[in-house]
Amino acid sequence: MPKVGVLAMQGAFIEHIKMLKKCGVKAMEVRLPEELAKVQALILPGGESTSNRKLLKKSGLFKPLAERIEQGMPVFGTCAGAILLAKTVDSKPGFFKAIDISVKRNAYGRQIDSFEAELKVKGFVKPFHGVFIRAPIIEHIGKNVEVLAEFGEKAVLAKQNNVLVATFHPELTNDTRIHRLFLKIIEQTAIEGNALNKN
Ligand code: GLN
Repeated sequence: MPKVGVLAMQGAFIEHIKMLKKCGVKAMEVRLPEELAKVQALILPGGESTSNRKLLKKSGLFKPLAERIEQGMPVFGTCAGAILLAKTVDSKPGFFKAIDISVKRNAYGRQIDSFEAELKVKGFVKPFHGVFIRAPIIEHIGKNVEVLAEFGEKAVLAKQNNVLVATFHPELTNDTRIHRLFLKIIEQTAIEGNALNKN
């Protein structure tokens, strides 16, 4: 069974750990390079992307994490985590540049800066309750990015290879379906990794 890490610098990491446990997988908080080395996949939680950026640099985790992402480790970013994984943020180069999307931070504006919406997610029979908190808007999507859910004609859940991003907070609901979707990506990566090793 894979061990899934949750980046625990700042933000909603405890909720992700709870969700992973609910899904029956081993989960651990990741703050240090030695901890990152023990996990097969990582969730980057919501919070404040600028603080997370600073803490990632300070802790020495940025470089090893960038390398693991480059090597294909599955990652799932929610809200601020999605911002950290984006190729472009507010028209400037992003941090990990792991998924070909351009995001605009805090883009829903003051009046509706936090809201909830029922989302139609590709492959799900019932809608998913999306909790948006000062969420970014995904303004541009590269051609290799698969859109899995939209709100107001903008992607809110998207995937490119082993990188999954949500601009909302699935960890703040009791619904584990999106976490299970990430677990499927991890499983698929493990199968294909083994297949590659055999050839
Ligand atoms: N507004 C935050 C940022 O720009 C993200 C908010 C969140 O993660 N809920 O980093």
